[in-house]
Amino acid sequence: MNIQRIALLTSGGDAPGMNAAIRAVVRTAVFHKMEVWGIRRGYEGLIEGDMIPLQAQDVSNIIARGGTILKTARSKAFQTEEGRRNAFTQLQQRGIEGLILIGGDGTFRGAHAFFQEHQIPAIGLPGTIDNDLAGTDYTIGFDTAVNTAVEAIDKIRDTAEAHDRLFIVEVMGRDAGYIALHSGLACGAEDILIPEVETLLGQVVARICDDERRKKTVHIIVVSEGDDLKGGASALYEYIRHDFPQLDTRMCVLGHIQRGGSPTCADRILASRLGFAAVNALRAGKSQVMAGLVNDQVVFTPFDQAVKQQANLHRDMLQMIRVLAV
Ligand code: ATP
Repeated sequence: MNIQRIALLTSGGDAPGMNAAIRAVVRTAVFHKMEVWGIRRGYEGLIEGDMIPLQAQDVSNIIARGGTILKTARSKAFQTEEGRRNAFTQLQQRGIEGLILIGGDGTFRGAHAFFQEHQIPAIGLPGTIDNDLAGTDYTIGFDTAVNTAVEAIDKIRDTAEAHDRLFIVEVMGRDAGYIALHSGLACGAEDILIPEVETLLGQVVARICDDERRKKTVHIIVVSEGDDLKGGASALYEYIRHDFPQLDTRMCVLGHIQRGGSPTCADRILASRLGFAAVNALRAGKSQVMAGLVNDQVVFTPFDQAVKQQANLHRDMLQMIRVLAV
């Protein structure tokens, strides 16, 4: 397909590696002598026509930078038919023939709605720290976020050990427990609480008491912010402090440090491979699919299927983590 003019945007929560993806998309498109427009602030900027032309040199020195040079936003207007119609008009006015969207599940939900109403070829790239998309083993930003969490939890363990403390650490993940599972496993956490698996307080407490009996003096519990206890780490902290005042308990919410920072090597490579593949997919006539990496191969998954979470091995992994923590 002879696409000459494309636009790209980053949308939803920012994720380290988005810049590496932008770089790969722009450089691949320039290689094919295509014109590239960068849309600022995601769907919000698309509706407002906030776009800038991008040349190869405009993406110099961004591969190692966190955040996104295009900025990102959450757009209420894009959730309306009128907003999406305005977005389409902006594309038509500039003769843009293809779109590349970098974002998470919400971004692809929006894309699915958009392309049911307005047919313009589009390819998605999984850019979210949450890793909650089907059609790719890992999302861009997840590896960096997990490594940031691991570094922080390792430090917390040092101080927890010095004082024989119970530490409750909250990591990001409103609906998905991947960051908690992976960082918890990598840090040797004693327990992990995630949204996908029901948290039974009685069992959490039983495990703490068991550790006490065995004179295990440090107990780290990693909690996803969206755990079904509602209230993340602070809910559990208040409960334990109230019912077990004899325990020296502390709490730490890692928060937005997990989104920032220079992307890891793995995220830069993933973003570069998928950005390159996305432009070539548009040229080959693919549309309304997300590019992902499965078993080290680039695969394409329709937008509506990419947003369905994989029925994953969370329970098995949790069991393993508890065995290893003994
Ligand atoms: P992250 O996983 O990092 O939060 P995300 O892409 O899931 O990223 P969202 O804020 O959920 O982030 O979605 C990005 C944007 O996609 C929303 O602000 C909204 O404009 C659009 N969007 C989400 N769901 C829909 C929908 N059902 N219809 C239309 N647009 C939608």
